[in-house]
Amino acid sequence: MLDRILSPRQARQFHRFLRNGKITLLCLFLTVIVLRGHLGAGKFGTPEKDLNEIRQTFSYIRRRAEPRRVLEEAKSNVVLSSNNDNNYAEFDITKILMDEDDGVVEFKRDSSQPYTLGPKISDWDQQRSDWLRQNPNFPNFIAEKKPRVLLVTGSSPKPCENPVGDHYLLKSIKNKIDYCRLHGIEIFYNMALLDAEMAGFWAKLPLLRKLLLSHPEVEFLWWMDSDAMFTDMVFELPWDKYKDHNLVMHGWNEMVYDQKNWIGLNTGSFLLRNCQWSLDILDTLAPMGPKGKIREEAGKVLTRELKDRPVFEADDQSAMVYILATQRDKWGGKVYLENSYYLHGYWGILVDRYEEMIENYHPGYGDHRWPLVTHFVGCKPCAKFGDYPVERCLKQMDRAFNFGDNQILQMYGFTHKSLASRRVKRTRNETSNPLEVRDQR
Ligand code: UDP
Ligand code: MN
Repeated sequence: MLDRILSPRQARQFHRFLRNGKITLLCLFLTVIVLRGHLGAGKFGTPEKDLNEIRQTFSYIRRRAEPRRVLEEAKSNVVLSSNNDNNYAEFDITKILMDEDDGVVEFKRDSSQPYTLGPKISDWDQQRSDWLRQNPNFPNFIAEKKPRVLLVTGSSPKPCENPVGDHYLLKSIKNKIDYCRLHGIEIFYNMALLDAEMAGFWAKLPLLRKLLLSHPEVEFLWWMDSDAMFTDMVFELPWDKYKDHNLVMHGWNEMVYDQKNWIGLNTGSFLLRNCQWSLDILDTLAPMGPKGKIREEAGKVLTRELKDRPVFEADDQSAMVYILATQRDKWGGKVYLENSYYLHGYWGILVDRYEEMIENYHPGYGDHRWPLVTHFVGCKPCAKFGDYPVERCLKQMDRAFNFGDNQILQMYGFTHKSLASRRVKRTRNETSNPLEVRDQR
């Protein structure tokens, strides 16, 4: 019949179509068999079981997709929410900062009495030596001629005015941790203002007294400013040289005792022995420290009496020069003014010479060839204003940090790409015998 309706050519096409259709149906049948094997209950499954299996399979696929969906939804919520709770970059920290009145003294002192750091102690040497005898597990010398030392540093309890200041504080404490780990020195980082009257440079006085009395096992406290960094990781202090001294500062006898120059010594990095003498010198400095009228008036005296001192409130460094110069007989014998290496090194004369030092010398000298400490006097990275251009300060602080950090990184086979770069590169290839590499050092 078809042959009658269709022309011979059309009939041939129709038969080809039927043949192809058979192949298509065969393919469809095979596909169903294969899918049943994967999605259904398998060889022995009923159609009902098949359906359940297929449902479960699809719900599993949905469940797997869910965490992603949650993330997507969270993302779109952030975009939608107007107060943007999860955004650190734009959070205003003052929302959660309390105590913005921290200049207020919490209890009023009897102002008719001179300021003191605490109850008078006059037998500390006796008390401490008794304690050391009773506690032989905490010796004040950890090896022959190696005193137990606690490095003390700190910064304001508040965040810095510019958050970048806190980044430099972090670099600075990392640098100190590295030096101290290598030299068996403990660290105390203070962020508490122990006595509101002694804010600023004077905060170290109540702190040092408290630490001397709380750590009889410590022979020396080593105060170091937060703006000072170790630039020689190898140099060990000549401890034995100071065996008959109680206070070691960077400075020059003539400048302090003859000229009464206010920069004849520096109080940014110094050693203080744990003894009665040290409590006494802290007590002697303290009355010039209380904030307000007392500090202002003391500042006038210091500016008048000391060489080249600008007009400003009393600071601990000027007070130290003043009492040493005016009471040399009382204190001078136990004070060592060190200048054979940089216990403190003024940054202005050091930072532009780092490349020259790398070219000609190596760590371990501690002096002008490779300074132990670079101190960024006047930079004030945590404050609103400093005494020098901010860009120079921060750039040079980075260079000093990297200069010191290279001496740490090289132990692990790395170095900064340059003193200006926070990036590092390898200095040696990885090895399957890492301990042999260490032994060669
Ligand atoms: N300091 C502190 N708490 C404060 C402010 C300062 O402990 O609230 C410390 C900090 O370690 C700082 C040191 O006091 O480095 C002395 O101040 P700074 O270094 O700014 O004085 P400079 O060396 O520039 O004269
Ligand atoms: Mn300083």
